[in-house]
Amino acid sequence: QQVNPQEGAAVKAADRAHVFHSWSAQDVIDPLAVAGAEGSYFWDFEGNRYLDFTSGLVFTNIGYQHPKVVAAIQEQAAQLVTFAPAFAVAPRSEAARLVAERTPGDLDKIFFTNGGAEAVENAVRLARVHTGRPKVLSAYRSYHGSTSAAIHLTGDPRRWANDTGAAGVVHFWGPFLYRSPFYAESEEQECERALKHLDDTIRYEGPATIAAIILETIPGGSGIMPPPPGYLAGVRELCDKYGIVFILDEVMAGFGRTGTWFAADLYDARPDLMTFAKGVNSGYVPLGGVAISAEIAETFAQRPFPGGLTYSGHPLACAAAVATINVMAEEKIVENAAHLGEQVLGPGLRALAEDHPSVGDVRGTGVFWCVELVRDRETREPLVPYNATGKANAPMAAFGAAAKKHGLWPFLNMNRTHVVPPCTLTESEAQEGLAALDKALTVADEFVAG
Ligand code: PLP
Repeated sequence: QQVNPQEGAAVKAADRAHVFHSWSAQDVIDPLAVAGAEGSYFWDFEGNRYLDFTSGLVFTNIGYQHPKVVAAIQEQAAQLVTFAPAFAVAPRSEAARLVAERTPGDLDKIFFTNGGAEAVENAVRLARVHTGRPKVLSAYRSYHGSTSAAIHLTGDPRRWANDTGAAGVVHFWGPFLYRSPFYAESEEQECERALKHLDDTIRYEGPATIAAIILETIPGGSGIMPPPPGYLAGVRELCDKYGIVFILDEVMAGFGRTGTWFAADLYDARPDLMTFAKGVNSGYVPLGGVAISAEIAETFAQRPFPGGLTYSGHPLACAAAVATINVMAEEKIVENAAHLGEQVLGPGLRALAEDHPSVGDVRGTGVFWCVELVRDRETREPLVPYNATGKANAPMAAFGAAAKKHGLWPFLNMNRTHVVPPCTLTESEAQEGLAALDKALTVADEFVAG
Protein backbone atom coordinates (compact mmCIF):
# COMPACT_ATOMS: atom_id res chain seq x y z
CA GLN A 1 0.00 0.00 0.00
CA GLN A 2 2.26 2.78 -1.31
CA VAL A 3 1.36 6.44 -1.30
CA ASN A 4 1.93 7.90 -4.77
CA PRO A 5 -0.24 10.95 -5.49
CA GLN A 6 1.52 11.59 -8.82
CA GLU A 7 0.57 8.19 -10.21
CA GLY A 8 -2.95 8.69 -8.87
CA ALA A 9 -3.19 12.03 -10.68
CA ALA A 10 -2.07 10.40 -13.96
CA VAL A 11 -4.63 7.59 -13.62
CA LYS A 12 -7.32 10.14 -12.91
CA ALA A 13 -6.30 12.45 -15.78
CA ALA A 14 -6.43 9.65 -18.38
CA ASP A 15 -9.77 8.51 -16.98
CA ARG A 16 -11.23 11.99 -17.20
CA ALA A 17 -9.89 12.45 -20.72
CA HIS A 18 -11.00 9.12 -22.21
CA VAL A 19 -13.22 6.89 -20.05
CA PHE A 20 -16.95 7.24 -20.61
CA HIS A 21 -18.65 6.06 -17.40
CA SER A 22 -21.90 4.13 -16.83
CA TRP A 23 -25.10 5.93 -15.73
CA SER A 24 -23.28 9.27 -15.34
CA ALA A 25 -23.22 12.87 -16.52
CA GLN A 26 -19.57 12.73 -17.55
CA ASP A 27 -18.51 16.16 -16.31
CA VAL A 28 -20.28 15.88 -12.98
CA ILE A 29 -18.63 12.71 -11.65
CA ASP A 30 -15.32 12.56 -9.79
CA PRO A 31 -14.14 8.92 -9.78
CA LEU A 32 -11.66 7.92 -7.08
CA ALA A 33 -8.34 6.63 -8.46
CA VAL A 34 -7.84 3.21 -6.88
CA ALA A 35 -4.34 1.94 -6.14
CA GLY A 36 -5.18 -1.52 -4.85
CA ALA A 37 -7.51 -3.80 -2.92
CA GLU A 38 -7.38 -6.85 -0.69
CA GLY A 39 -10.07 -8.74 1.20
CA SER A 40 -12.70 -6.28 2.40
CA TYR A 41 -10.62 -3.12 1.79
CA PHE A 42 -9.39 -0.93 -1.06
CA TRP A 43 -7.15 2.12 -1.04
CA ASP A 44 -6.32 5.16 -3.13
CA PHE A 45 -2.95 6.74 -4.06
CA GLU A 46 -3.15 9.29 -1.23
CA GLY A 47 -2.98 6.77 1.59
CA ASN A 48 -6.73 6.56 2.30
CA ARG A 49 -8.06 3.06 2.97
CA TYR A 50 -11.74 2.16 2.83
CA LEU A 51 -13.76 -0.73 4.20
CA ASP A 52 -15.88 -1.73 1.20
CA PHE A 53 -19.53 -2.14 2.18
CA THR A 54 -20.49 -2.30 -1.53
CA SER A 55 -18.54 -5.36 -2.77
CA GLY A 56 -17.90 -3.30 -5.90
CA LEU A 57 -21.35 -3.45 -7.44
CA VAL A 58 -22.36 -6.27 -5.09
CA PHE A 59 -20.12 -8.82 -6.77
CA THR A 60 -16.87 -9.41 -4.81
CA ASN A 61 -18.49 -12.04 -2.61
CA ILE A 62 -15.11 -13.55 -1.65
CA GLY A 63 -13.43 -10.14 -1.25
CA TYR A 64 -10.64 -8.74 -3.38
CA GLN A 65 -7.61 -10.73 -4.59
CA HIS A 66 -8.39 -14.11 -3.05
CA PRO A 67 -5.01 -15.83 -3.61
CA LYS A 68 -6.44 -19.21 -4.64
CA VAL A 69 -8.74 -17.69 -7.25
CA VAL A 70 -6.02 -15.36 -8.57
CA ALA A 71 -3.72 -18.42 -8.88
CA ALA A 72 -6.42 -20.42 -10.71
CA ILE A 73 -6.82 -17.56 -13.22
CA GLN A 74 -3.05 -17.42 -13.72
CA GLU A 75 -2.86 -21.20 -14.24
CA GLN A 76 -5.72 -21.20 -16.74
CA ALA A 77 -4.15 -18.26 -18.60
CA ALA A 78 -0.89 -20.20 -18.92
CA GLN A 79 -2.63 -23.41 -19.99
CA LEU A 80 -5.47 -22.38 -22.35
CA VAL A 81 -6.46 -18.75 -22.09
CA THR A 82 -9.37 -18.90 -24.53
CA PHE A 83 -11.32 -21.29 -26.73
CA ALA A 84 -14.46 -21.11 -28.87
CA PRO A 85 -17.81 -22.00 -27.26
CA ALA A 86 -18.67 -24.97 -29.52
CA PHE A 87 -15.96 -27.14 -27.94
CA ALA A 88 -15.91 -29.02 -24.63
CA VAL A 89 -13.18 -27.56 -22.42
CA ALA A 90 -12.36 -28.53 -18.85
CA PRO A 91 -13.04 -25.28 -16.94
CA ARG A 92 -16.39 -24.75 -18.74
CA SER A 93 -17.53 -28.33 -18.09
CA GLU A 94 -16.52 -28.15 -14.43
CA ALA A 95 -18.04 -24.71 -13.83
CA ALA A 96 -21.35 -25.90 -15.34
CA ARG A 97 -21.27 -29.02 -13.16
CA LEU A 98 -20.57 -27.03 -9.97
CA VAL A 99 -23.30 -24.48 -10.69
CA ALA A 100 -25.87 -27.15 -11.67
CA GLU A 101 -25.07 -29.07 -8.48
CA ARG A 102 -26.18 -26.04 -6.46
CA THR A 103 -29.15 -24.65 -8.40
CA PRO A 104 -32.64 -25.71 -7.23
CA GLY A 105 -34.60 -28.68 -8.59
CA ASP A 106 -33.76 -29.93 -12.06
CA LEU A 107 -32.06 -26.76 -13.33
CA ASP A 108 -29.17 -28.84 -14.59
CA LYS A 109 -28.18 -27.27 -17.92
CA ILE A 110 -26.16 -24.05 -17.93
CA PHE A 111 -25.99 -21.47 -20.72
CA PHE A 112 -23.05 -19.17 -19.98
CA THR A 113 -23.03 -15.44 -20.74
CA ASN A 114 -20.64 -12.56 -20.00
CA GLY A 115 -22.79 -10.97 -17.30
CA GLY A 116 -26.21 -10.51 -15.76
CA ALA A 117 -28.05 -8.57 -18.45
CA GLU A 118 -27.13 -11.13 -21.12
CA ALA A 119 -28.33 -13.86 -18.77
CA VAL A 120 -31.70 -12.11 -18.52
CA GLU A 121 -31.87 -11.59 -22.31
CA ASN A 122 -31.29 -15.29 -22.89
CA ALA A 123 -33.66 -16.46 -20.16
CA VAL A 124 -36.40 -14.39 -21.82
CA ARG A 125 -35.44 -15.82 -25.22
CA LEU A 126 -35.62 -19.39 -23.86
CA ALA A 127 -39.05 -18.70 -22.34
CA ARG A 128 -40.44 -17.07 -25.49
CA VAL A 129 -39.29 -19.85 -27.80
CA HIS A 130 -40.36 -22.56 -25.33
CA THR A 131 -43.90 -21.19 -24.92
CA GLY A 132 -44.35 -19.52 -28.31
CA ARG A 133 -45.79 -16.52 -26.39
CA PRO A 134 -44.57 -12.91 -26.59
CA LYS A 135 -45.03 -11.09 -23.26
CA VAL A 136 -43.02 -11.03 -20.04
CA LEU A 137 -44.23 -9.74 -16.65
CA SER A 138 -41.84 -8.08 -14.21
CA ALA A 139 -42.04 -6.02 -11.03
CA TYR A 140 -41.87 -2.22 -10.76
CA ARG A 141 -39.34 -2.35 -7.95
CA SER A 142 -36.69 -4.27 -9.85
CA TYR A 143 -33.45 -4.10 -11.81
CA HIS A 144 -32.58 -6.68 -14.47
CA GLY A 145 -29.72 -5.07 -16.44
CA SER A 146 -29.20 -2.40 -19.08
CA THR A 147 -29.44 -4.24 -22.43
CA SER A 148 -32.64 -4.12 -24.47
CA ALA A 149 -35.00 -6.70 -22.96
CA ALA A 150 -33.33 -6.41 -19.53
CA ILE A 151 -33.75 -2.64 -19.25
CA HIS A 152 -37.37 -2.84 -20.39
CA LEU A 153 -38.00 -5.48 -17.72
CA THR A 154 -36.37 -3.23 -15.12
CA GLY A 155 -38.98 -1.48 -13.02
CA ASP A 156 -36.96 1.32 -11.45
CA PRO A 157 -36.21 4.73 -13.06
CA ARG A 158 -33.13 3.42 -14.86
CA ARG A 159 -35.66 2.17 -17.44
CA TRP A 160 -37.30 5.50 -18.22
CA ALA A 161 -34.80 7.01 -20.66
CA ASN A 162 -34.42 3.64 -22.42
CA ASP A 163 -38.07 2.70 -22.75
CA THR A 164 -39.19 2.36 -26.37
CA GLY A 165 -42.43 0.75 -25.20
CA ALA A 166 -41.94 -2.06 -27.68
CA ALA A 167 -40.54 -4.96 -25.72
CA GLY A 168 -43.69 -6.90 -24.78
CA VAL A 169 -43.15 -6.16 -21.10
CA VAL A 170 -45.90 -5.62 -18.53
CA HIS A 171 -45.05 -4.38 -15.03
CA PHE A 172 -46.86 -5.31 -11.83
CA TRP A 173 -46.36 -4.59 -8.12
CA GLY A 174 -44.40 -7.09 -6.08
CA PRO A 175 -44.90 -7.31 -2.31
CA PHE A 176 -43.15 -4.75 -0.05
CA LEU A 177 -44.86 -4.23 3.28
CA TYR A 178 -42.92 -1.10 4.37
CA ARG A 179 -44.31 0.81 1.38
CA SER A 180 -47.21 -1.49 0.61
CA PRO A 181 -48.86 -0.89 -2.76
CA PHE A 182 -51.83 -2.85 -1.34
CA TYR A 183 -52.46 -0.91 1.91
CA ALA A 184 -51.59 -4.12 3.76
CA GLU A 185 -50.89 -4.17 7.49
CA SER A 186 -49.23 -7.58 7.79
CA GLU A 187 -46.95 -9.79 5.72
CA GLU A 188 -49.84 -12.24 5.29
CA GLN A 189 -52.11 -9.55 3.86
CA GLU A 190 -49.32 -8.23 1.65
CA CYS A 191 -48.66 -11.72 0.28
CA GLU A 192 -52.31 -12.51 -0.37
CA ARG A 193 -53.03 -9.16 -2.02
CA ALA A 194 -49.84 -9.20 -4.11
CA LEU A 195 -50.76 -12.65 -5.45
CA LYS A 196 -54.32 -11.54 -6.20
CA HIS A 197 -52.94 -8.49 -8.05
CA LEU A 198 -50.58 -10.70 -10.07
CA ASP A 199 -53.40 -13.13 -10.91
CA ASP A 200 -55.59 -10.21 -12.04
CA THR A 201 -52.74 -8.81 -14.15
CA ILE A 202 -52.28 -12.20 -15.86
CA ARG A 203 -56.01 -12.63 -16.50
CA TYR A 204 -56.45 -9.14 -17.93
CA GLU A 205 -53.28 -9.35 -20.07
CA GLY A 206 -54.40 -12.74 -21.40
CA PRO A 207 -52.59 -15.80 -20.04
CA ALA A 208 -52.00 -17.18 -23.55
CA THR A 209 -49.92 -14.09 -24.41
CA ILE A 210 -47.53 -14.42 -21.45
CA ALA A 211 -44.26 -16.34 -21.85
CA ALA A 212 -42.71 -15.62 -18.47
CA ILE A 213 -42.79 -13.89 -15.12
CA ILE A 214 -39.37 -12.70 -14.01
CA LEU A 215 -38.62 -11.73 -10.42
CA GLU A 216 -35.49 -11.10 -8.42
CA THR A 217 -35.83 -13.67 -5.61
CA ILE A 218 -34.99 -10.84 -3.21
CA PRO A 219 -35.13 -7.58 -5.21
CA GLY A 220 -31.69 -6.01 -4.65
CA GLY A 221 -30.75 -2.80 -6.45
CA SER A 222 -34.16 -1.28 -5.83
CA GLY A 223 -34.15 -1.85 -2.09
CA ILE A 224 -33.39 -5.40 -0.79
CA MET A 225 -36.99 -6.44 -0.13
CA PRO A 226 -37.30 -10.05 1.08
CA PRO A 227 -40.68 -11.37 -0.09
CA PRO A 228 -43.21 -12.50 2.51
CA PRO A 229 -43.43 -16.23 3.24
CA GLY A 230 -45.60 -17.95 0.64
CA TYR A 231 -45.22 -15.33 -2.11
CA LEU A 232 -42.79 -17.21 -4.35
CA ALA A 233 -44.72 -20.46 -3.86
CA GLY A 234 -47.85 -18.55 -4.89
CA VAL A 235 -46.14 -17.24 -8.04
CA ARG A 236 -45.08 -20.82 -8.84
CA GLU A 237 -48.72 -21.91 -8.57
CA LEU A 238 -49.90 -19.12 -10.89
CA CYS A 239 -47.20 -20.05 -13.43
CA ASP A 240 -48.29 -23.70 -13.32
CA LYS A 241 -51.95 -22.74 -13.64
CA TYR A 242 -51.40 -20.60 -16.76
CA GLY A 243 -48.44 -22.41 -18.39
CA ILE A 244 -46.08 -19.47 -17.77
CA VAL A 245 -42.30 -19.88 -17.34
CA PHE A 246 -41.09 -18.75 -13.89
CA ILE A 247 -37.70 -16.98 -14.05
CA LEU A 248 -35.82 -16.06 -10.89
CA ASP A 249 -33.06 -13.48 -11.32
CA GLU A 250 -30.29 -14.29 -8.83
CA VAL A 251 -27.64 -12.09 -10.42
CA MET A 252 -27.27 -10.05 -7.23
CA ALA A 253 -28.75 -12.35 -4.57
CA GLY A 254 -26.95 -15.54 -5.65
CA PHE A 255 -23.72 -17.21 -4.56
CA GLY A 256 -23.72 -16.72 -0.83
CA ARG A 257 -24.99 -13.18 -0.40
CA THR A 258 -28.13 -14.24 1.47
CA GLY A 259 -26.28 -16.71 3.69
CA THR A 260 -27.38 -19.55 1.41
CA TRP A 261 -25.99 -20.51 -2.01
CA PHE A 262 -29.05 -18.95 -3.63
CA ALA A 263 -31.81 -16.77 -2.21
CA ALA A 264 -34.21 -19.35 -3.70
CA ASP A 265 -32.96 -21.80 -1.02
CA LEU A 266 -34.40 -19.55 1.72
CA TYR A 267 -37.90 -19.97 0.29
CA ASP A 268 -37.55 -23.40 -1.28
CA ALA A 269 -38.47 -21.60 -4.52
CA ARG A 270 -38.70 -23.67 -7.70
CA PRO A 271 -38.12 -21.57 -10.85
CA ASP A 272 -37.95 -22.95 -14.41
CA LEU A 273 -35.01 -20.70 -15.25
CA MET A 274 -32.55 -18.95 -12.98
CA THR A 275 -30.11 -16.22 -13.97
CA PHE A 276 -26.78 -15.65 -12.22
CA ALA A 277 -23.57 -13.58 -12.64
CA LYS A 278 -21.56 -11.41 -10.20
CA GLY A 279 -20.83 -13.76 -7.25
CA VAL A 280 -20.39 -16.85 -9.46
CA ASN A 281 -16.72 -15.90 -9.67
CA SER A 282 -16.76 -12.80 -7.51
CA GLY A 283 -16.54 -10.70 -10.68
CA TYR A 284 -12.84 -11.53 -11.10
CA VAL A 285 -13.52 -12.21 -14.81
CA PRO A 286 -16.88 -11.32 -16.45
CA LEU A 287 -19.29 -14.27 -16.33
CA GLY A 288 -23.02 -14.90 -16.06
CA GLY A 289 -25.48 -17.54 -17.10
CA VAL A 290 -28.89 -19.15 -17.10
CA ALA A 291 -29.66 -22.42 -15.34
CA ILE A 292 -32.30 -24.30 -17.36
CA SER A 293 -34.90 -26.86 -16.24
CA ALA A 294 -35.10 -30.32 -17.80
CA GLU A 295 -38.43 -29.48 -19.46
CA ILE A 296 -37.16 -26.32 -21.15
CA ALA A 297 -33.86 -27.97 -22.10
CA GLU A 298 -35.91 -30.72 -23.78
CA THR A 299 -37.50 -28.12 -26.12
CA PHE A 300 -34.04 -27.56 -27.52
CA ALA A 301 -32.98 -31.21 -27.67
CA GLN A 302 -33.64 -31.52 -31.41
CA ARG A 303 -34.36 -27.92 -32.28
CA PRO A 304 -31.52 -25.37 -32.24
CA PHE A 305 -31.46 -22.72 -29.53
CA PRO A 306 -31.57 -19.42 -31.47
CA GLY A 307 -28.89 -17.54 -29.54
CA GLY A 308 -25.16 -17.47 -28.82
CA LEU A 309 -22.17 -15.43 -27.71
CA THR A 310 -18.55 -15.51 -28.90
CA TYR A 311 -17.38 -15.75 -25.30
CA SER A 312 -20.05 -18.07 -23.89
CA GLY A 313 -18.29 -20.01 -21.14
CA HIS A 314 -14.93 -18.28 -21.58
CA PRO A 315 -12.27 -20.60 -20.10
CA LEU A 316 -10.65 -17.86 -17.99
CA ALA A 317 -14.00 -16.78 -16.49
CA CYS A 318 -15.04 -20.40 -15.92
CA ALA A 319 -11.73 -21.28 -14.24
CA ALA A 320 -12.36 -18.34 -11.91
CA ALA A 321 -15.86 -19.70 -11.20
CA VAL A 322 -14.56 -23.20 -10.43
CA ALA A 323 -11.96 -21.79 -8.02
CA THR A 324 -14.47 -19.39 -6.43
CA ILE A 325 -17.13 -22.04 -5.83
CA ASN A 326 -14.56 -24.46 -4.41
CA VAL A 327 -13.07 -21.78 -2.14
CA MET A 328 -16.56 -20.79 -0.94
CA ALA A 329 -17.26 -24.42 -0.02
CA GLU A 330 -13.85 -25.12 1.56
CA GLU A 331 -13.69 -21.93 3.59
CA LYS A 332 -17.37 -22.02 4.63
CA ILE A 333 -17.91 -18.56 3.17
CA VAL A 334 -21.67 -19.01 2.73
CA GLU A 335 -21.93 -20.06 6.39
CA ASN A 336 -19.93 -16.96 7.35
CA ALA A 337 -22.44 -14.74 5.51
CA ALA A 338 -25.32 -16.44 7.35
CA HIS A 339 -23.57 -16.03 10.70
CA LEU A 340 -22.82 -12.34 10.07
CA GLY A 341 -26.44 -11.68 9.15
CA GLU A 342 -27.90 -13.44 12.15
CA GLN A 343 -25.38 -12.52 14.83
CA VAL A 344 -23.67 -9.28 13.84
CA LEU A 345 -25.13 -7.20 10.99
CA GLY A 346 -28.82 -7.84 11.68
CA PRO A 347 -28.64 -7.05 15.42
CA GLY A 348 -26.10 -4.24 14.83
CA LEU A 349 -28.21 -2.47 12.21
CA ARG A 350 -31.37 -2.83 14.31
CA ALA A 351 -29.51 -1.25 17.24
CA LEU A 352 -28.53 1.67 14.99
CA ALA A 353 -32.20 2.06 14.03
CA GLU A 354 -33.06 2.47 17.73
CA ASP A 355 -30.50 5.25 18.12
CA HIS A 356 -31.03 7.18 14.88
CA PRO A 357 -34.35 8.84 13.99
CA SER A 358 -33.29 8.95 10.31
CA VAL A 359 -33.54 5.15 10.06
CA GLY A 360 -37.03 4.19 8.91
CA ASP A 361 -36.51 0.51 8.20
CA VAL A 362 -33.83 -2.18 8.36
CA ARG A 363 -34.35 -5.39 6.37
CA GLY A 364 -32.28 -8.17 4.87
CA THR A 365 -30.41 -11.40 5.48
CA GLY A 366 -26.81 -12.63 5.31
CA VAL A 367 -24.67 -9.82 3.90
CA PHE A 368 -27.63 -8.33 2.00
CA TRP A 369 -29.15 -5.47 4.05
CA CYS A 370 -31.01 -2.26 3.35
CA VAL A 371 -31.15 0.70 5.71
CA GLU A 372 -33.91 2.99 4.53
CA LEU A 373 -33.47 6.64 5.58
CA VAL A 374 -36.48 8.87 6.22
CA ARG A 375 -37.32 12.45 7.17
CA ASP A 376 -40.14 11.24 9.32
CA ARG A 377 -40.57 7.79 10.83
CA GLU A 378 -44.33 8.16 11.20
CA THR A 379 -45.12 9.20 7.63
CA ARG A 380 -42.13 7.27 6.21
CA GLU A 381 -41.34 10.24 3.97
CA PRO A 382 -37.99 9.35 2.36
CA LEU A 383 -34.93 11.40 3.41
CA VAL A 384 -34.67 12.54 -0.24
CA PRO A 385 -37.44 12.53 -2.89
CA TYR A 386 -37.77 9.56 -5.28
CA ASN A 387 -35.00 9.66 -7.90
CA ALA A 388 -33.60 12.98 -6.54
CA THR A 389 -30.49 14.55 -8.08
CA GLY A 390 -28.33 17.60 -7.28
CA LYS A 391 -29.45 19.76 -4.35
CA ALA A 392 -32.48 17.61 -3.64
CA ASN A 393 -30.13 14.70 -2.94
CA ALA A 394 -27.93 16.71 -0.52
CA PRO A 395 -28.87 14.79 2.67
CA MET A 396 -27.81 11.45 1.13
CA ALA A 397 -24.65 13.03 -0.27
CA ALA A 398 -23.80 14.37 3.21
CA PHE A 399 -24.43 10.93 4.73
CA GLY A 400 -22.17 9.30 2.11
CA ALA A 401 -19.38 11.84 2.61
CA ALA A 402 -19.51 11.28 6.38
CA ALA A 403 -19.22 7.49 5.94
CA LYS A 404 -16.16 7.93 3.69
CA LYS A 405 -14.59 10.34 6.19
CA HIS A 406 -14.82 7.54 8.73
CA GLY A 407 -13.21 5.00 6.40
CA LEU A 408 -16.34 3.27 5.09
CA TRP A 409 -17.29 3.13 1.41
CA PRO A 410 -21.12 2.99 1.43
CA PHE A 411 -23.57 1.77 -1.22
CA LEU A 412 -26.10 4.55 -1.86
CA ASN A 413 -29.31 4.38 -3.89
CA MET A 414 -31.99 7.08 -3.56
CA ASN A 415 -32.89 7.29 0.17
CA ARG A 416 -31.19 4.03 1.07
CA THR A 417 -27.80 2.69 2.03
CA HIS A 418 -27.31 -0.99 1.26
CA VAL A 419 -24.99 -2.91 3.55
CA VAL A 420 -23.55 -5.40 1.08
CA PRO A 421 -19.98 -6.27 2.11
CA PRO A 422 -18.18 -9.41 0.93
CA CYS A 423 -19.38 -12.72 2.39
CA THR A 424 -15.83 -13.09 3.75
CA LEU A 425 -16.15 -10.05 6.06
CA THR A 426 -14.85 -10.79 9.57
CA GLU A 427 -16.77 -9.95 12.74
CA SER A 428 -14.33 -7.21 13.66
CA GLU A 429 -14.60 -5.68 10.17
CA ALA A 430 -18.38 -5.78 10.54
CA GLN A 431 -18.11 -3.95 13.88
CA GLU A 432 -15.76 -1.39 12.34
CA GLY A 433 -18.29 -0.77 9.54
CA LEU A 434 -21.21 -0.49 11.98
CA ALA A 435 -19.25 2.07 14.04
CA ALA A 436 -18.63 4.18 10.92
CA LEU A 437 -22.31 3.91 9.94
CA ASP A 438 -23.24 5.06 13.44
CA LYS A 439 -21.21 8.26 12.94
CA ALA A 440 -22.53 8.85 9.41
CA LEU A 441 -26.15 8.37 10.54
CA THR A 442 -25.67 11.23 13.02
CA VAL A 443 -25.25 13.44 9.93
CA ALA A 444 -28.43 11.98 8.35
CA ASP A 445 -30.32 12.65 11.62
CA GLU A 446 -29.75 16.41 11.12
CA PHE A 447 -32.14 16.29 8.14
CA VAL A 448 -34.98 14.63 10.06
CA ALA A 449 -38.13 16.79 10.09
CA GLY A 450 -39.09 18.68 13.25
N1 PLP B 1 -30.10 -8.64 -12.61
C1 PLP B 1 -29.92 -8.18 -11.37
C2 PLP B 1 -30.82 -8.65 -10.28
C3 PLP B 1 -28.90 -7.26 -11.09
O1 PLP B 1 -28.74 -6.79 -9.85
C4 PLP B 1 -28.05 -6.86 -12.15
C5 PLP B 1 -26.96 -5.90 -11.91
O2 PLP B 1 -26.86 -5.28 -10.88
C6 PLP B 1 -28.28 -7.38 -13.44
C7 PLP B 1 -29.30 -8.27 -13.63
C8 PLP B 1 -27.42 -6.97 -14.59
O3 PLP B 1 -26.16 -7.53 -14.49
P1 PLP B 1 -24.92 -6.95 -15.37
O4 PLP B 1 -24.67 -5.57 -14.86
O5 PLP B 1 -23.82 -7.94 -15.10
O6 PLP B 1 -25.35 -6.98 -16.78
